[in-house]
Amino acid sequence: TCGICVEKCPFDAIEIINLPSELDDDPVHRYGENAFSLYGLPVPESGTVTGLLGPNGIGKSTAVHALAGETVPNLGRYNDPPEWETVLDRYRGTALQNYLERLMADEVSIARKPQYVDRIPDSFDGKTRELLAGTDERGVVDDLVDRLSIRPVMDQAIDTLSGGELQRVALAATLARDADFYFLDEITPYLDIGQRVTAARLVRELAEEEDRSMLVVEHDLAVLDLLGDRLHVAYGEPGAYGVVTDPKSVRNGINEYLQGYLDNENMRIRPEAITFEEHAPRQSTTGTPLVDYPDLRKSYGEGEFSLAVEGGTIYENEVLGIVGPNGIGKSTLAKLFAGAIDPDAGELAFSLDIAYKPQYVEVDQPMRVDTFLSTITDDFGTSFWNTEIARPLQLERIMEQQLTDLSGGERQRVAIAACLSEDADLYVLDEPSAHLDVEQRVQATTAIRRYAENHDATAMVIDHDIYMIDLLADRLMVFDGEPAERGHASTPQGMRSGMNDFLADLDITFRRDERTGRPRINKPDSQLDRKQKRQGEYYYAP
Ligand code: ADP
Ligand code: ADP
Ligand code: MG
Repeated sequence: TCGICVEKCPFDAIEIINLPSELDDDPVHRYGENAFSLYGLPVPESGTVTGLLGPNGIGKSTAVHALAGETVPNLGRYNDPPEWETVLDRYRGTALQNYLERLMADEVSIARKPQYVDRIPDSFDGKTRELLAGTDERGVVDDLVDRLSIRPVMDQAIDTLSGGELQRVALAATLARDADFYFLDEITPYLDIGQRVTAARLVRELAEEEDRSMLVVEHDLAVLDLLGDRLHVAYGEPGAYGVVTDPKSVRNGINEYLQGYLDNENMRIRPEAITFEEHAPRQSTTGTPLVDYPDLRKSYGEGEFSLAVEGGTIYENEVLGIVGPNGIGKSTLAKLFAGAIDPDAGELAFSLDIAYKPQYVEVDQPMRVDTFLSTITDDFGTSFWNTEIARPLQLERIMEQQLTDLSGGERQRVAIAACLSEDADLYVLDEPSAHLDVEQRVQATTAIRRYAENHDATAMVIDHDIYMIDLLADRLMVFDGEPAERGHASTPQGMRSGMNDFLADLDITFRRDERTGRPRINKPDSQLDRKQKRQGEYYYAP
């Protein structure tokens, strides 16, 4: 046991290889007897973007509540909570002393962006313009509205915005505040890569130019890498205990996290490493074709959005990555294949059985997870289904919960499971990475890949997390055009040429980390950036 539980571990803990020595000390905060305990806190620093990387349920929000002064950390004494003075005593002489003194003296102002932007419409009734007006303490909303491309929805009611629009509005609202300490609980869900990079730049500028202190929780590693000056890693047993490490460089922090071993702490946090393909994987053209389709056109009426699709072949057994900006026609393509809408030009002589996981997973059925999933497949509960679906998607712990009580990441995993459990020819998953932590992204990726391989199934996966696409896709379909006006879908192509087309359009190049081979975004106009652009190698650099 990890010292917290009395008998059998209720958290279904994986083997704990070595126990952190922090657990011998008092925690920063404990919710109750046998309840979650947090060890260690991130250290905010002005002029700095501090990243916080770790699984869901590991205490990131708990840490922020403490740093925001919303809860006085109880130092483990949940029965007899100490005063601030006592807490301060404990942190005297540490990097947190200065911050906590100012916090206690009420000298720290805090702005926070919540994790689940989908819930903003529940608490705000009005237009985008009205929401932003109330937050413009620095007089910068106008500029943020332009840079985050919010202008077109300024007079739209908040409850009609898409997830990506809500995310950008929430970012603008938070960054417009005049605070010392900004806390951003994930900045990337529902944003495309271009928008992610813009958001990262805005966060950096606020630290660099305004000397503010930024703390960012983020699961998109490429973006985290671009964003942060330093990184705290959080590890432990989600739901049981969490340990926040001392700050590391962002590069080392991410590398150690991927390798599953924390150097300074001498701590293994995962049995095996997460690895990336350094060179483009071979194109899999040996499979049996699932469909051959001709050039297609579809528009939604005079002057509205129009899509042109280049014809091509999709093979059984392959995972086709789909990349491109938001509003470019990716979902429209899925609907064409599913036969839900008809093309204006070109003919789809078939209609495939398509299982579709939409981008926004909405559940309002009052039903238990196990009941819901057993209505989808007769395989539910078989050892095969458990191995292929339930285990990698970590469903075992949430089977008895109500769908309506699930967190965003839990809902996402149930939706992926529901999609893969259907009996279909083609599985289309729209942004499966949203709200999943790094671990869960890797496991979901493995589940999707293995499922396609074992079932002669084909999966099309739309995602904006470049690490997930790298780990997942055999080939790529690349969308370009002008969002909301016209889109163009390329024929499925190999990873190398697909990544090149996609990233050239975004003007972003990647290099490889020397130690782990993981892709990292190059600084614009750096030597490598210019060299790779000259060579036309945006991702799999020679
Ligand atoms: P993260 O932000 O890393 O996802 P949280 O800090 O939100 O994690 O939660 C860490 C753990 O503490 C979770 O298991 C959560 O259920 C538990 N927890 C959070 N708030 C409370 C509370 N008020 N009482 C008891 N347990 C809580
Ligand atoms: P993506 O999946 O790439 O984000 P979509 O295919 O959902 O893009 O949408 C592409 C464009 O078509 C968007 O501007 C969207 O607003 C518009 N659109 C989607 N469905 C309809 C519809 N039924 N009628 C009119 N416009 C639509
Ligand atoms: Mg949280």
